[in-house]
Amino acid sequence: MNKPVFTVGERVEKLCVVCNEVRGHVVVSVTKRGQVSRVSCPKCGERSAFKSGTPADENAKRSAAKAGAPYDRTRTYRTGQAMMHPTFGLGEVTKVIEPCKIDVLFADRIRRLIHSTPASE
Ligand SMILES: [Zn+2]
Repeated sequence: MNKPVFTVGERVEKLCVVCNEVRGHVVVSVTKRGQVSRVSCPKCGERSAFKSGTPADENAKRSAAKAGAPYDRTRTYRTGQAMMHPTFGLGEVTKVIEPCKIDVLFADRIRRLIHSTPASE
């Protein structure tokens, strides 16, 4: 079987190390044989090398989807996204209030968190 041939601009599922989340990445470059070599995360703009079908990617994909990535205020969250907060535990984003604020439902109650804010100090 031949491997699938990709073209620039297509979407591929990949774990973004910056977002710490699996999402559709935009293919930005392919090899002469049509293999994806570099992809760009549509959310954070991070460009990274793409290795298709590596076990590491598969494992990361599964664990990220199951447990929810650690809460990181520099990330941009969206409704329905899961996270693991160091204090409150597992939570799910119920609403994006404004560009930098989200409501997150934890085991006890909804808490308002900041997100999408640049890292400082
Ligand atoms: Zn990203």
